[in-house]
Amino acid sequence: MTPRPELALVEGFERALINHRLHMAYQPKVRLRDGALTRVEALVRWEDAEFGSVPPSRFVPLAEKHGLIEELTQWGLRTTLRQWLKWREQGIDTCLAFNISALSLEQLDFPDLVERMCRALDVPTDRLVIELTEGATLPLIKLMDTLTRFRIKGIGLAIDDFGTGYSSLMQLRQLPFTEVKIDRFFVSDAVTSPDSRLIVKAIIDLAQGLGLTATAEGVETVDQLRLMHELGCDVVQGYLISQPLEPDSLQFWTQEFKQRWPGLIEDRGLELWTHVESDPLRQR
Ligand code: C2E
Ligand code: CA
Ligand code: CA
Repeated sequence: MTPRPELALVEGFERALINHRLHMAYQPKVRLRDGALTRVEALVRWEDAEFGSVPPSRFVPLAEKHGLIEELTQWGLRTTLRQWLKWREQGIDTCLAFNISALSLEQLDFPDLVERMCRALDVPTDRLVIELTEGATLPLIKLMDTLTRFRIKGIGLAIDDFGTGYSSLMQLRQLPFTEVKIDRFFVSDAVTSPDSRLIVKAIIDLAQGLGLTATAEGVETVDQLRLMHELGCDVVQGYLISQPLEPDSLQFWTQEFKQRWPGLIEDRGLELWTHVESDPLRQR
């Protein structure tokens, strides 16, 4: 039986969903080569009068469990695609990264639905990247047909939280991914742990060798950023670059970040280099 507080939370979530009280925040991802904005990741937010600010790690699994995930996905996608149109009017033509629960992919016609939504709003499908995390119950390999359909339609596919949980190297070869997101645990650990640094480098090389984009998640410090740069990572995302933003703040952020980027990547470069060089692993 579902415990009472969980049921209250689910009912609260359903009310928020129906009454349009959820909103999306968008976190920029930038290219390490030049600091250019490559895409923004849509992250759902729920601020509730009764429950306070509830994180998606709490309510997304509940939505999955209680049959509300499809509605959440459709609301989120519509909201994000509409936001893309507004940004384009402001002269920001970026790609969108959208998180999808593996459960939504059990429907074989889900890629058609996504394509129809893009068409209806006139958003090119190649501006969209679907981010997926592997769960214990549903290995992504079982979703091969659905994933291939996304790629045929020009929609990108990222494997999220790579390196932890259930993700495996085999999936990178067998499934039609376009991007690998290195889990933030390895990104933060790599600065001090030679082992984690080796793992991050191996993931980057593997991703690039297979023709995929390597993205580092959760970059919080300048040292992490410069290490990812040195290891040859393609794209970075994290609080150092930007917190998830309200949609209207993206234009201001792009201007502010252009000023900030050269200092982030260039100053103190020598210091980090010395730090990494002194690592015995590099001499292997
Ligand atoms: P995720 O896809 O791995 O998203 C990254 C999470 O890390 C986000 O948490 C983001 O706010 C946070 N983050 C970003 N940069 C940093 C950083 O530098 N340091 C740290 N410590 N954290 C950082 P958030 O928004 O709480 O989302 C948690 C998870 O919930 C997401 O993990 C994603 O799996 C899921 N999620 C979020 N929005 C949606 C959605 O619309 N639909 C679905 N199905 N899942 C969603
Ligand atoms: Ca994600
Ligand atoms: Ca992630």
